[in-house]
Amino acid sequence: MKFSGKNVLVTGGSRGIGAEICKVLASFGLKVWINYRSNPKLADDLKAQIEADGGSAAVVKFDATNEEDFIAAINLIIQSDGELSYLVNNAGITNDKLALRMSVDDFNSVIDANLKSAFIGCKEALKVMSKKRFGSVVNVASIVGEMGNAGQTNYSASKGGMIAMSKSFAKEGASRNVRFNSATPGFIATDMTDALSDEIKANYSANIPLKRFGEAKEVATAIAFLLSDYSSYITGDTLKINGGLYM
Ligand code: NAP
Repeated sequence: MKFSGKNVLVTGGSRGIGAEICKVLASFGLKVWINYRSNPKLADDLKAQIEADGGSAAVVKFDATNEEDFIAAINLIIQSDGELSYLVNNAGITNDKLALRMSVDDFNSVIDANLKSAFIGCKEALKVMSKKRFGSVVNVASIVGEMGNAGQTNYSASKGGMIAMSKSFAKEGASRNVRFNSATPGFIATDMTDALSDEIKANYSANIPLKRFGEAKEVATAIAFLLSDYSSYITGDTLKINGGLYM
């Protein structure tokens, strides 16, 4: 995979899909800024692992829903490296309930964590990448943002919003050579899906044409493609990584 840029910020990078994205991008020679919110040990251990494998990494703590802290982190990266080449808005949460039991607070918390955080990241990335006339951003949305899911009205709204928002950013960034795309993973084996019961997991797997949950690394490699020079003529698009569950 070819990358003209030199560094990347991955929000929620210390575990799950985010950690795999960090490892894969470091293996392609990018300096990886691992964002974490709550567990410094996980982030430090990942940094050590990447460095032991010959890569370059740094750790940056912030809550991605906090605009001031997100901007401060990007400023720190620019001060350190002189630029920010790539951003992956990966941080996300679920708070599942049937709609009739979902409070407005339940709804807003997921919109904030998933959609608002990505908006802040996209906006700041566009600002700094425009100056260099180069950059690529991937928003980690979800299959649920494309097809909906019972119990996830908040999550589906946030992820569908990310897909639509990426297209608008793509239109605003194109004249400055800044690309924005979405990735929509299906069901991937991480802490997030560990919360599902074995029965629900078996039901989902039975309906997936490839008959299994995806691995975080399979999401990470697809996202690496979307960030890289190999996808230089792709912007505003949505890459499905779902084993064929939604085509
Ligand atoms: P995960 O294992 O639950 O990890 C989520 C990560 O996001 C954690 O590192 C978490 O940090 C971080 N995070 C959450 N809110 C944050 C905030 N406000 N600021 C900074 N970091 C924050 O989830 P995952 O399965 O790896 O999911 C990663 C992304 O893929 C999410 O956007 C998710 O919606 C999406 N996705 C996942 C699946 C799946 O099947 N797993 C499918 C489709 C899409 P803490 O450690 O501090 O909590």
